[in-house]
Amino acid sequence: MTEKIIRNGTVVSLDPDVGTLEEADVRIDGGEIVEIGHGLTASNAEVIDASDQIVLPGFVDSHIHLAQTQVRGIAGDWSLMGEYFDHMLGNITGLYRPEDMYLGGLFGALEKLHTGTTTALDWSYPNTLEHGERALDALKDVGLRAVYTYGPPGDDAAKWWFESDVGLPEANIRELHEEKIRDDDLLSLALGLRGPDFCTDETARRDLELARELGALSTVHMGAALWPSSVYGGGYQGFGAIKDMLGPDVNVAHANHFAQDDVQHAVDQGVSFSSTPEVEMQMGHGIPVTKKVLDAGGRVSWGVDVCSNISGDMGSQMRIGMQVQRMFENQEVLESDEEVTAVQTTARDTLEFATIEGAKALNMEDEIGTLTPGKRADIILIDANDFTTAPSHSPIQTVVFQSDPSHISTVLVDGDVVKRDGELLNPAVREEFDRFVDSGRRLIDEAGIDL
Ligand SMILES: [Zn+2]
Repeated sequence: MTEKIIRNGTVVSLDPDVGTLEEADVRIDGGEIVEIGHGLTASNAEVIDASDQIVLPGFVDSHIHLAQTQVRGIAGDWSLMGEYFDHMLGNITGLYRPEDMYLGGLFGALEKLHTGTTTALDWSYPNTLEHGERALDALKDVGLRAVYTYGPPGDDAAKWWFESDVGLPEANIRELHEEKIRDDDLLSLALGLRGPDFCTDETARRDLELARELGALSTVHMGAALWPSSVYGGGYQGFGAIKDMLGPDVNVAHANHFAQDDVQHAVDQGVSFSSTPEVEMQMGHGIPVTKKVLDAGGRVSWGVDVCSNISGDMGSQMRIGMQVQRMFENQEVLESDEEVTAVQTTARDTLEFATIEGAKALNMEDEIGTLTPGKRADIILIDANDFTTAPSHSPIQTVVFQSDPSHISTVLVDGDVVKRDGELLNPAVREEFDRFVDSGRRLIDEAGIDL
């Protein structure tokens, strides 16, 4: 049955032309949203009852390292420059076998679907071609829509990070693209650039040129630590060697140390920003870039980033990122000796950052991010009639402030139901669970990290 009708829900489309509709239906055919309205009919459609449910686009996580899922709960008290680089990139990542990439990616992707994220940019550190293949197998077996990001291998931090002059492994990237990505409807390719913070200027430019040649998104960790300024002097250098190469196919994660001028330049060039507020505030990256981007007339997207620290749930990022932004906005008013009489960044803003802005950051806004006829049917249903969510007077506020993953009842990716009545349908949740736990235990044991 290719046709489905999601019946009688509160549809929060986030598309200004569609709006929010009460007791409305969404008709899906062949994985595409074909109609949104009242009293829709289709003779052969599977009906999904959405009474007392809020129907909205799936969340888009624009920056996460899914393969760290089986080492979750180790980095919650770590800083970036104190422990993370040494323990994670300098030790644990090198111990990953291809099967560990599979199991981490598998359960990371399952957690994404369970918590309402239907698309994620998965920043991967594949030590070999086979590591990349297994990471992609996991995404395929789960059926998450994903931008698989081929980053620097995790086997040798000195070779691939800091002032590296070794380009990303081009032959592996081309082979994976051909073999596993190009013909898959749910997968696309990005290159995980070291950028000027972590490799030589020439290497940073060459990696970006390679991404462009492959038609891939470039995503780069930048401005998350002060250390480049101690190398180059004169404060954080901003885009440095790639400043004249920016465009809408460049995505920057973090950017905490960027000057307002650099953010403005990036926004003007169509560069997207992934802010990962919870991890950034914990690990010492600095103040989230949100305010600078909004002040420059841009918008941000949210990411979970390091799931060895924190939950993969995007709801946390929506709330934390928004409330921090509000704190700064309010403080600015108070410091001018005025009372705060209006909140600036709204619940709708943060929900958009978690959906349509994520889609834009990944250059997928024509496909996903809103409930719009013609887009793919990546849809989640949230129970608005639970004793912890009801009564729902404003659906967007219920989603942002009251709901958590336990309220996400149903999830569809590309029109396929992957979670129903609160349960993931993929049997891997049970069948692979023991192997997943064993993988995490082995990695921590072999790394010899004292927790
Ligand atoms: Zn990251």
